[in-house]
Amino acid sequence: LASREMCPDGRVVRVGEEVIGRKKLVMMAGPCAVESEDQIMQAAEGVKAAGARFLRGGAYKPRTSPYSFQGMEEEGLKLMRKAADACGLKVVSEVVAHDQIDIAGKYCDMLQIGARNMQNFRLLREVGRAKIPVLLKRGISSTVEEWLDAAEYIMSEGNYNVVLCERGIRTFETATRNTLDVSAVPVVKERSSLPIIIDPSHAAGKSRYIASLSLAAVAAGADGLIIEVHPNPKVAMSDAAQQLTPEAYGTLFQKVGALAQVV
Ligand code: PEP
Ligand code: MN
Repeated sequence: LASREMCPDGRVVRVGEEVIGRKKLVMMAGPCAVESEDQIMQAAEGVKAAGARFLRGGAYKPRTSPYSFQGMEEEGLKLMRKAADACGLKVVSEVVAHDQIDIAGKYCDMLQIGARNMQNFRLLREVGRAKIPVLLKRGISSTVEEWLDAAEYIMSEGNYNVVLCERGIRTFETATRNTLDVSAVPVVKERSSLPIIIDPSHAAGKSRYIASLSLAAVAAGADGLIIEVHPNPKVAMSDAAQQLTPEAYGTLFQKVGALAQVV
């Protein structure tokens, strides 16, 4: 179902009135995690002012250490929905377990499956059954074929609204958090009918590299970008080093807009 042969012209994913996979870039942005009402409201206002259409923000965080901030859960989702509605944005947020899908589905327009869960097959099947649009991140050490098989799990349950997200893969290089696989864009476009967006934030791990990676992704033909933006990155409770200020995001948005048409 995910293959190019099944849909030679490519699939379009609709999230309400937003269309992903047709010429114009979709821009998603927001903090790594929802931390407070003020924080998510300021983030929403900032990314909206820059031109973004989707607000991202984690409420269930898949943290490497069990002692790190794990997210505000349903309270965070409520705050994010409120901020997004106030600004006219769509909401995309991650679920890390299948029993969170019903709750998250009440507040989100799109559910994210994170890199660490790309091969959580039960979770994939359940978001497939839920029929809500899915943002499927590439696993940290997954091949494109494994990633497309993961998309197939979701689609095989009848949910064709799957958008792929390349977020960097683990390599021997340590200068960046992960290595952005820009090749994934043409490879996915050749083998699959699904839209693909890029997350330069989790690839770079450092805010100063985000602009370069974003431009490379767009030049390669990505259908959009998802970028971490925090009103005050220095005090972020997760991924502080890679989050952009709303001002920096605005500047980046302009540069991207000079290269491609933005929704
Ligand atoms: C995230 O988007 O906040 C996240 C945890 O991303 P990834 O699953 O790509 O690491
Ligand atoms: Mn993050």
